[in-house]
Amino acid sequence: MNKQKLLSSLPSVDEILKSGKGLVWQEAYPRRYVLQAIREIIEHTRQLILKDEIKEISMEGLLPEIQIKIEKLSSFSLRPVINATGIVMHTNLGRSVLSEEILENVKKVACGYSNLEYDIEKGERGKRYSHIQKLLNDITGAESSLIVNNNAAAVFVCLSALAKGKEVIVSRGELVEIGGSFRVPDVMSASGAVLREVGTTNKTHLRDYESAINENTGLLLKVHQSNFRTIGFTKSVEIDELVTLGKKHNIPVMFDLGSGCLIDLKPYGVHIEPTVQEIVKSGCDIVTFSGDKLLGGPQGGVIAGKSELIEKIAKNPLMRAVRIDKLTLSAFEAVLMNYLDEDTAKKQTPTLRMLLQDVNEIKTRAKKIATRLKREIKEDIADIAVMEDSSQSGGGALPEIEFKTFVVAIKPKKLSVNKLEERLRHSSPPVIARIKEDALIIDARTVADWEIKALVKGIEGALL
Ligand SMILES: *Cc1c(COP(=O)(O)O)cnc(C)c1O
Repeated sequence: MNKQKLLSSLPSVDEILKSGKGLVWQEAYPRRYVLQAIREIIEHTRQLILKDEIKEISMEGLLPEIQIKIEKLSSFSLRPVINATGIVMHTNLGRSVLSEEILENVKKVACGYSNLEYDIEKGERGKRYSHIQKLLNDITGAESSLIVNNNAAAVFVCLSALAKGKEVIVSRGELVEIGGSFRVPDVMSASGAVLREVGTTNKTHLRDYESAINENTGLLLKVHQSNFRTIGFTKSVEIDELVTLGKKHNIPVMFDLGSGCLIDLKPYGVHIEPTVQEIVKSGCDIVTFSGDKLLGGPQGGVIAGKSELIEKIAKNPLMRAVRIDKLTLSAFEAVLMNYLDEDTAKKQTPTLRMLLQDVNEIKTRAKKIATRLKREIKEDIADIAVMEDSSQSGGGALPEIEFKTFVVAIKPKKLSVNKLEERLRHSSPPVIARIKEDALIIDARTVADWEIKALVKGIEGALL
C-alpha cells in the first residue's frame, strides 16, 4: 500500500471508541486516558507511516498498543516494590514497613469519625497529642512529649520555640547533612536561631562549649552524626557532660537523635549508642527522633523531654504547620502500644524483625529463592549461587554496623548485569536490587516470604 492509502485507512478516534474494545475501556478506565491513549497511538502510527516504517495497518493491530498505553496511564504512580537491597530502613523505598495489625487500627480510625481532637470524658474540645502522650512518656521515661510530621519538623519547631533570636551552640563535628537536604546549619537559620559553632571537625571539648556560652545563648544542641562517623584522632562531648554544663548555666540541652533507638541492641552485638531512655535519664531536656527509622513506625517526629519546655514548644505557632495527621497518629499509637513490652516490639515491628532476624532464617530464605530460580533457569542463561554478604541498616542509623546476611548472586550470561538490573526495575512489581562486581545481588533479609513467588517470576521474566 502507498503512504496516502495507509494514512487514509487509519481509524478515527471515534471509530475506536465505538468498537467493542473501545466500549469496554470506557467502562473500565478514566475516559480522558482512553482518549489520550487512542490519540497518541494513532499519531505514533501516522509518524511511522510517514517514515515508511509501516507497510500495513488494521484497527485490530492498534488495539493491543492502545490497551498497554491506557493501562500505563491509569496505573498508580505510588505502588509496592520488592526491596531486595537488604537495606531495612531504605528512605527511597518508604523506610519502614507497617504490619497488617497496625493498619487495622488505622482503618478503624480513618473510615469513620474519631475523637481526634475531642475529649470524650469532658464532652469538649481535646488535643490530638493527648492520644500518644502517655505512651511516649511511659516508653521514653520523659516527663512530657509531642509528635509532629517528621524529625526534621521536630528539630525545626524546637529550635524556633526555644531559641529564636538566640545562639545555639553546636559542635563543628555535628553540623551534618542528612539525605534529602536536611542540613543542620540551614535548618538552624530557617528557624530563626543563630548557629554558634564550636570545636573543630574532629575534636570538640567541653571547654569549647563553655567558653562560647554568653547571655544570648538559648540552647546547647547535640546532633547525632547519623550517616557518617569521625574516626581516628577525635573527641566529642558526651550528653551527660553537656547536661551538667547546661544545668550550671541554666541553659537547656537538646539532642537530635536522628533515628533514636528504644530497644537495647547490645544483645545483638550493636554497642554503639545509648537508648532514648538512657539519654532521657541522663537529664537531657529535649530529645527528638524519627518515627520511621529504628522505631519502625510511620513517618513522624517525636519530641520528648521536660514538661515546661514541651509546653512552650506546643504553644509555638509552627506546631500547626507541622502537625501530624490522624492516619499517622493512629498507626503511631498502635506501634507504640507494642513498645510497652520490648519482646512484643521486637516481634511485631517489621523493621526490628528484619534487622534482628536470625542469619540462618535469612540463609533459608535465600536458598529457597535460589532453588526456585534454578528450576527454571538453566546454566547457559545465568549462574545462580547463595553467598554470605552484609547488609546495612539504612535510615542514617548504625552506618558502621554490617549485618551478616545471605544473598542470591545472579550472573547473567546472555545479557549484561546492568540490563538485568534495569529489567527488574521495570517488572511488576518492580524489584530493586544492587549490583556487586558482575553479579546482581538479591539480599534475602528484606524480602518477605510472601514476596518470593513474585520475585522469582520477575527474575525469570527479566532473564528469559
Ligand atoms: C534522619 C535525621 C533527621 C531527619 O529525620 P526525618 O524523620 O527524616 O525528618 C534529622 N536529624 C538527624 C540526625 C537524622 O538522622
